[in-house]
Amino acid sequence: MTRAAELVPYDEALARYEPVIGLETHVELGTRTKMFCGCPTTFGLEPNSAVCPVCLGLPGSLPVTNRAAIEYTIRIGLALNCSIATWCRFARKNYFYPDMPKDFQISQYDEPLCTDGYLDVVVEGHTFRIGIERVHLEEDTGKSLHVGGATGRIHGADYSLVDYNRAGIPLVEVVTKPVTGTGALAPVVARTYVTELRDVLRSLGVSDVRMEEGSLRCDVNTSIAPPGAAEFGTRTETKNVNSLRSIERAVRFEIERQAAVLGAGQRILLETRHFHEDNSTTTAGRSKEEAQDYRYFPEPDLAPLAPDPAWVEEIRASLPELPAARRARLQTEWELSELDMTALSNAGALDLVAATVAAGSSPADARKWWLGELARRANESGIELSDLAITPAQVARVSALVQAGTLNDKLARQVLDGVLEGEGEPDAVVEARGLAVVSDDSALTAAVDAAIAGNPDAAAKIRDGKLAAAGALVGDVMKATRGRADANRARELILERLT
Ligand SMILES: [Zn+2]
Repeated sequence: MTRAAELVPYDEALARYEPVIGLETHVELGTRTKMFCGCPTTFGLEPNSAVCPVCLGLPGSLPVTNRAAIEYTIRIGLALNCSIATWCRFARKNYFYPDMPKDFQISQYDEPLCTDGYLDVVVEGHTFRIGIERVHLEEDTGKSLHVGGATGRIHGADYSLVDYNRAGIPLVEVVTKPVTGTGALAPVVARTYVTELRDVLRSLGVSDVRMEEGSLRCDVNTSIAPPGAAEFGTRTETKNVNSLRSIERAVRFEIERQAAVLGAGQRILLETRHFHEDNSTTTAGRSKEEAQDYRYFPEPDLAPLAPDPAWVEEIRASLPELPAARRARLQTEWELSELDMTALSNAGALDLVAATVAAGSSPADARKWWLGELARRANESGIELSDLAITPAQVARVSALVQAGTLNDKLARQVLDGVLEGEGEPDAVVEARGLAVVSDDSALTAAVDAAIAGNPDAAAKIRDGKLAAAGALVGDVMKATRGRADANRARELILERLT
């Protein structure tokens, strides 16, 4: 039931069923050292070079809790409006995969550090309050690499390698409550929630939240049921969806697939599914019909956690301005509509525009360059705006040169070209390429005279009082100066001579 021909078209699926989504987001914390030992957490080290007896689970080694990881988790909980436990314990989750050398993972089970919060997200003008069930802390597992198979999965592989550098890195899991009432917006709400959560985490400075490096990973639960049904439908859990765009596509695909399964009189299986980036489909993974027994029990090697309420209040007082509050403030300061602000956020331009304004540009000009010319170039190159080889300070300088009349918009675009091509600062590009506007009369006279001589018909019309004809002459002056003439001054000179 995964081929496109067997799906129910999205609108039709939504006419018959209400979707319910849930998101489990794993965040690797950006602490300097691991959760229970002193090994570094640096990404991309030589495999199995950041390991020690504790994270390898060697006999006789004992874990010690990383205080920074506890503080980061409390920061996240507070930012998500959660209650912080005054006492809780880590649990031992027993399982037998080679990616965890101890054969268990230290996690939180029935006593999470943070519970019962929410995060508001705005989609198409509607605010959806996403309930947060829990925020808990655990250690990440190692990474298996299956070599020789076509898909990178264990099936068909010749052999497997394992890297324990990641084993023991502090990992926070943020679990939502079931999200209902989103209707057709369910896929976009899922994507917007993870985007907002990522921005909150980034503003808190607790993680580098890089989806492509796996420091932010998302499992997406989806179910559907007829409108007014007393119970939710059976959910599927799509694992490790690794981009924001894929989150939206995974939910959409599952809605279409599940509608087809139910429409054919079959039942949805409780299972994990894998998302395929190449064709935006999911395929069945592990069945969850029989609950796995992890034999959780309180971790005997660690003391319970009892965060001092005074410490929690200290952390609360130190929280930065969160993204939603910042957007609201900037929207007022920049005098933008809700729609403009959303466009800015969605384009990933908010921080860039803010930095450009901080470097002296007006908000309107900063927006114009980033959302116009620069967005077009990023699009053409298939990269993010923030990956363009230009800084907000450089954009602010170009904007200032336009304000001062040194550049017009057309010349400014050539200056941006030069900066993007690595020719240096805007002023150096203006100098090297000879791009400054020519407004000096003596420099313009020759071009103005030539334009009049070359357009006798237009010149005659102007003499008859048809001043609109001056446009053609100004155009010739611009051509002759390769776009550098001050168009207003050129027009004045033309009219002075002919009227
Ligand atoms: Zn270690």
